[in-house]
Amino acid sequence: MFFERGVGEDGPWPTGGPILKIAIIGAGPSGLVTAIALMKRLHRPFEAWLIDAEDAPGAFGNGAAGMAPTTEPARDLSVAPERPDDFADWLKSNWLADGTIATLRRPQDLHVPRALYRDYVMARFGEALSLRKDVRIRTFRGHVRHVDIDAAMPRLVFRDGECADFDHVFVATGFGVAQREAASWQAAHAAADRLSGHENPPPLTLVGNGPRLAAILLHLRANGYAGDIHVAAASGRLPQPHVRSHGGIAFGEPPAGRSLQEAFRYVRRECRTAEAREGGHWQAVVDAASARLAVVWRNLPQAERNRYRRHLLRLHRHFSIRLAADVHRRLGTEIETGRTRFVPPRSLKSADENTVDCREVPSARALAGLLSRDAAALSIDDGGRLSNHGAPVPALSVIGPIASSLRPGPFTFAETVRQAYRAVLAATPHGLARTSQP
Ligand SMILES: Cc1cc2nc3c(=O)[nH]c(=O)nc-3n(C[C@H](O)[C@H](O)[C@H](O)COP(=O)(O)OP(=O)(O)OC[C@H]3O[C@@H](n4cnc5c(N)ncnc54)[C@H](O)[C@@H]3O)c2cc1C
Repeated sequence: MFFERGVGEDGPWPTGGPILKIAIIGAGPSGLVTAIALMKRLHRPFEAWLIDAEDAPGAFGNGAAGMAPTTEPARDLSVAPERPDDFADWLKSNWLADGTIATLRRPQDLHVPRALYRDYVMARFGEALSLRKDVRIRTFRGHVRHVDIDAAMPRLVFRDGECADFDHVFVATGFGVAQREAASWQAAHAAADRLSGHENPPPLTLVGNGPRLAAILLHLRANGYAGDIHVAAASGRLPQPHVRSHGGIAFGEPPAGRSLQEAFRYVRRECRTAEAREGGHWQAVVDAASARLAVVWRNLPQAERNRYRRHLLRLHRHFSIRLAADVHRRLGTEIETGRTRFVPPRSLKSADENTVDCREVPSARALAGLLSRDAAALSIDDGGRLSNHGAPVPALSVIGPIASSLRPGPFTFAETVRQAYRAVLAATPHGLARTSQP
C-alpha cells in the first residue's frame, strides 16, 4: 500500500472532537457514490480513505471502456436519490452551455459514453467536497486482503502486510478483483492483436453474457477484428434490451410467509394479474416483482436465502440488467453475420490464451473470503448492513454489485445509490451518522 493523494486539504482542519476515520474499499461508481453520500449526509468531520487495488477513482471512464455507452439511460443514473433528473440536467447544462448543441431532446433517454458519465460523477464528487471544509478524502492504491471484523474496530489488512483501523468500512468492490473490467479489456486487445497475425486463426472466445461482453465484442469489431468470435455463455442468448416503459405496476401485499416457494408463487400470481390487468411489459413486471422480492426477503430464513442465491440469482440478474436498444440491435446484427456464435460455457481453469474472461458475477465467495466467514451464514439488508448467522456485523456496510452476491439487488445504479445513502444513515458504530446536523 502506498499513499497516493489527499483531496480537500486546503481548508482549516477542525481541531478538538474526534474525527471519524472511514474506509471505502473500491473506487468504482459504488465507492464514489458512497463517498458523495457521506459528504452529503454525515454531518461530522471525517477522513475517508478511498482504496482501490489498481484503478484510480473514475477509471471506469478511461480508454475504450469509457467510449462504451452506459447500459442505463441518463434518467436512471443520478447520484442524488432525491433528484432523479440530476444527470439529465447536468447533461443539458453542460452540452447546451457552450452553444455546441442548440437543443438536446429528452436527455433523460440517452445512453451516454461512460467517460461522460464519469465526468458527471466526478463533478458532483468535487462539488460535494468543496462544501465540506471538515472532510478529507484520501485516495490510496492498495489491495485489501482481509477485513478483520473481530477486532474492536474493523481492521483492513493489505496484501503487503500493512494494517489500518477504521470507525466504519464500506465494501464497494464490484465484481471483485478476480473479475476486474480493465483486465478483460486488456486481455481481449492482446488476444485480438495476437490472432490478427495468424493466417488461419483459431476463434477468440469471450466468456460471459453481460454488458462487459457486449461492449468488448462490439469494440473488437469496430476496430477491425475480423476473426471468428465464440461467446461462451450458459444462457446461450443475448442480454435483454431496454424497452420503453409504460409506467409502474402495482403489486398486492406480499405474504408474510417464510418460504421461497411461497414467495415465488406470490410473485408469479401477481405477474400474471399485472400482465392481464395493465398490459404490462415483462420488464415492468420484473422490476415490480424485484421490488416486492426485496420486501419478502426480510422474512426469509437464511436457508431459503441461500437457495435463492444458488438457484435463482443469476437468472434474476439476467432479466434485470438490460442493454441500450441500439447496442442490442448491433449485437443481433453481429450474430447474424455468422462470424460470432454462441458456444457452451467452459471452465476458465483450463482456458487457453485466446479465451477472455468477461464475466460479471458478483461473488459471495470473494466477499466471504475478504471477511474470513462462511458465505452461507452471511446476509445483507437493503441498507447494505451485513449479518453473520443473523447477528449484525457492526461498523461494516456492503454497497453495489458485491452486495447483490447475497441478496436480490442492487441490480441497477439507482438501487446502488439508494443503498449507499441508506447505509450512511444506518451506520451507527460509535454514533457515526446520527449525532449532528449541518
Ligand atoms: C459498457 C458497460 C456499461 C455499463 N453501464 C452500467 C450502467 O449504466 N449502470 C450500472 O449500474 N452498471 C453498468 N455497468 C456495470 C458496471 O460496470 C458496474 O455495475 C459498476 O462498475 C459497478 O460499480 P462498482 O463500483 O460496484 O464496481 P467496479 O466498477 O468494479 O469497482 C470496484 C473496484 O473495487 C476494486 N477492488 C475490488 N476488490 C478490491 C480489494 N480487495 N482491494 C482493493 N480494491 C478492490 C476494483 O479494483 C475496482 O476498481 C456497465 C458495464 C459496462 C461494461
